[in-house]
Amino acid sequence: MDLILLGPPGAGKGTQAKMLTEHFGIPQVATGDILRGAVQAGSALGLKAKGFMDAGLLVPDEVVIGIVRERLLQEDCRAGFILDGFPRTVAQADALQSNLAELGRRLDRVVSLTVDADALVERLTGRRTCRSCGRGFHLTFDPPMVAGRCDACGGELYQRDDDREETIRKRLTVYAQQTAPLIDYYRSAKLLVELDGMQAIPVVQEQVLSALQAG
Ligand code: ADP
Ligand code: AMP
Repeated sequence: MDLILLGPPGAGKGTQAKMLTEHFGIPQVATGDILRGAVQAGSALGLKAKGFMDAGLLVPDEVVIGIVRERLLQEDCRAGFILDGFPRTVAQADALQSNLAELGRRLDRVVSLTVDADALVERLTGRRTCRSCGRGFHLTFDPPMVAGRCDACGGELYQRDDDREETIRKRLTVYAQQTAPLIDYYRSAKLLVELDGMQAIPVVQEQVLSALQAG
């Protein structure tokens, strides 16, 4: 099961990816998480990526393409993977296709989540993430049981630096210009399943699962 979750920032890709990893026992490969980890660790990759991320811009293609190529070679991706936040440009999508072809694999499905711009801003401003396990919450739509603490591991919840309103607007523009063309790209490849991401989390979850089980 080699999958992509496609959609603008805040569409619910990470939320659904976490459910799918449990359901199918395959890893979530989230380039944003990998890059934030590198920034946190202060590695050369992190130093290169930080300025782009803080500005709401995409990290250069060659950097993220390299990260994903390495990641997909790891043992835990053998039975499948859920790409979340990659690809974000046509160049990344082309590179993914050729990397998979070299491995004798190809994508099974691209699930695209559609959400209105106003709802995206509301979701991103209210998003909180666990520092320890990475689980996502929302102050209104998916609040933690104890304020500021993760339900799963008790870790501290934080607000991402790029989830502030000016950066969010920039990220949405970048999505429209550089990533939205992938919807037609994967539609033409007959891999696309478009779902209404405006519905409640469990409803979207059911629809994602039934789209994937539809064969
Ligand atoms: P993405 O990974 O696409 O950027 P997330 O999965 O992190 O998006 O979701 C963004 C925010 O919106 C999170 O705070 C999450 O709890 C919330 N969220 C996700 N899906 C829904 C939904 N269907 N309805 C309402 N809020 C949602
Ligand atoms: P995300 O966690 O998916 O919202 O990504 C956060 C930030 O990481 C983005 O705004 C980009 O700066 C960077 N990023 C994540 N994935 C990619 C990608 N596939 N291509 C380029 N930049 C990326």
